[in-house]
Order: sequence, then C-alpha cells, then structure tokens
Amino acid sequence: MNPSSLALPHVAQLHAYTPGLQPTEAGWVKLNTNECPYPPSPRVAEALRREIGEDGASLRLYPNPKSGPLRAAVAKLHGLREENVVIGNGSDDILNLLVRAFVGCRAGSPDPAASSDATTAGSGDPALHQAAGFTLPSYSLYPVLVAIQDGRTDVIEFDRAMRLPLEKIAGSEARAFFLTSPNAPTGVGFANADLERAAASFRGLLVVDEAYAPFARENAVPLLARFPNLVVVRTLSKAYALAGIRVGYALAHPGIIDVLDRVRDSYNVSRLSQAAALAALGDQPYYDGVIAKVCATRDRCVRDLLDRRGWRTYDSQANFIFTEPKDARGATGLDVAKAAYSFLYSRKVLVRHFPSHALTAPFLRISVGTDAEMAALSDSLDAWQKAPVQNA
Ligand SMILES: *Cc1c(COP(=O)(O)O)cnc(C)c1O
Repeated sequence: MNPSSLALPHVAQLHAYTPGLQPTEAGWVKLNTNECPYPPSPRVAEALRREIGEDGASLRLYPNPKSGPLRAAVAKLHGLREENVVIGNGSDDILNLLVRAFVGCRAGSPDPAASSDATTAGSGDPALHQAAGFTLPSYSLYPVLVAIQDGRTDVIEFDRAMRLPLEKIAGSEARAFFLTSPNAPTGVGFANADLERAAASFRGLLVVDEAYAPFARENAVPLLARFPNLVVVRTLSKAYALAGIRVGYALAHPGIIDVLDRVRDSYNVSRLSQAAALAALGDQPYYDGVIAKVCATRDRCVRDLLDRRGWRTYDSQANFIFTEPKDARGATGLDVAKAAYSFLYSRKVLVRHFPSHALTAPFLRISVGTDAEMAALSDSLDAWQKAPVQNA
C-alpha cells in the first residue's frame, strides 16, 4: 500500500505553491523573487550575535510566545496599539492564519447558520459564504492556502488596465477577500480612495496584503481606524531585506487579532527571528535609504523599458517591474516572453515568467536589483533584441 493514499482526497489532489528558483551556485543575477539587493541594517547581525551569545545557551529556552516586544515595536512604528498587532513566521504564516480562521471547507458552505436559528453565535453575517475571494492575477499563494483546507474561492478577474474591480468586490459573498496592493505580479498600486470604497462596500473581511507598500506612494494603515473589517498584512522579507528570517505581521481591530492568536502556533516566531526583526525595525533611517535607492533604480529601469525599448510596462509601486518583451520583429506574446526568459537564463540572469494566465503570459516580472545588476539585465536584453528571432 502506498501510505500517501491515506491523505484526504482534497490533499491528494493538491498542487503546492511554486516558489521562484533559489540557485545555490554563484554567478547568477538573481531578479526573480523580489528580495532586497542590499543587506539588512548592520544592527541585525549584531542583534543575532547578542541573542546567540558565547555558547547559544539562550536557545535552550522557548521564544516569547506572543513576540511581545516585537508587537510593541510594530505598534509604535504604525501609531497603533499592541492589541492591533500579531506577528507571523513570515507574512505567509499570517495569510495562512487568516484562511484558517475565516475560510470554511466546501462541506461547510453555505454557512449552516443561515438555515439554523439555534446556533448563530460567532457565525457573522449568515448571508456570507465561507469562501475566500481574491483577484486574478494576484499572489498565487492564496488559492493554495484555500485548497489545503478544501475551501471555496470567489475569483475576480482584472482586465488589462489592472484597475480595482470595485463593483465586483462589493458584490462578493466571500467571507474574506484578499487584495494585494501594490499588486503582484503587476506592481500596480491601488489608491486609498479605492481601498476605502472596497472596505466600506464589502461585507466580509478585507485583507490588504501590503508586502510591497514601503515602495508605494500610499498604504492602507490610516484606514484601519475607520474600518473594523480591514486587515493590513506586512512582511520584513522585501523592504527590510530579511526574507531568510521569516517575519511578517498583521494590523487589525483587536477582535481580529484575538481570533488570529487563537489559531496560531504558540511559538510561531523563533528567538533569532524576533531579535533580528526588532533590530531592523529600530533602524528606519537605514531602510529609508535602501528604499529610496530601490525606487530610484526602479524608476530609471521603467523609463528605459518604456522610452528606449517601447515595451508595455505597468507603473510599478513595488520593488519589481512587469514588462512585455518585444522581439526584433516587434512581436509580443507568450512565446516571445518565453524566448526572452530563456535567453536571459542562458546568460545567468534569472527573472520570473507566469505563463498560466492570459494577462500575465506575455510579460516578465523583473525584481529591482542593484544598478550593476540592472545594467547586466539591460545588456542581456539588448543582446536578445539583436539576436535573430528563433522560429518556434
Ligand atoms: C513575498 C510576498 C509575501 C510573502 O512574504 P513572507 O513574509 O516572506 O512570507 C506575501 N505576499 C506577497 C504579495 C508577496 O509578494
């Protein structure tokens, strides 16, 4: 007997999230997973050394179960209270907790509370299904998290303009709706005026995944005071250059934080992660410099793609660029994007291609690296555009 046949049917069918390649050998220009091209604040390594000490004795002990000091630091950073903050093992952990707490399994939908007058306690608005809503394209982890617990999804498609489909979000009967702003993989940021309309009109929990907000003109944190159904999710993986340390957090009404605390692992953030994150948040001037450099490089690179190459490129408010490669004949499309990806790969320049959706297939997503890395990218794109077109 194959013991995997004991897995639940929906798990047996599950497709795991596909992370970007993480090559281990040297020599790659790595522009595929939106990591920061600069190191974290020097205070991070100091804090890690201090936490480990001479002999690592502190590691015998469990970490602070609530990541208390880190909650306080995050609250202070955003002008909120500790009760408005929960810390996760990366923001993926936070997203998982949100799905765990607010999205039901297929068998549980529609909400049994809708037809039973006896047990309505804690069921919220009975008209809401236990589904998770999200847009396409957006962060491709959401459907995986929902599938893990056999949940239902309410998918809303963007059109090529990538403007927020406000009417459709307002009409969604999902229990929780996940929006990525700035969006992934397009980099398009949504105005607070639009997020406000979404939060006001949608009856469920509106989760705004702000992984890239530090690179954007606006963010939804000021809206939290007025919308108790709003959750803002942040990560230290991108702007804080700490993808390897795995820290993210949610900002929300204390009632929502309390729910998330009930469903999380009791020691979900390690000692070393808490120490590193505290040190990083304590050095905002350093990160202001990093973010300014990344944004300047991004804006130069977008101008080059638009003006010199004439490639359709979205206005990015993130640390990556979504652009539609044009080959020597002026053609675009899935095969052209594939060819550009492969050419770059052959020159050890790694970017990301999302071939499975019509709105993303003709594009490449390119993380913003150092100026030197972006110059190497540009040289390779020049060489690709000059190379004779391969007929498929
Ligand atoms: C990178 C990313 C995350 C994941 O962040 P971690 O904190 O590393 O888990 C979440 N959401 C979006 C949209 C991202 O791009």
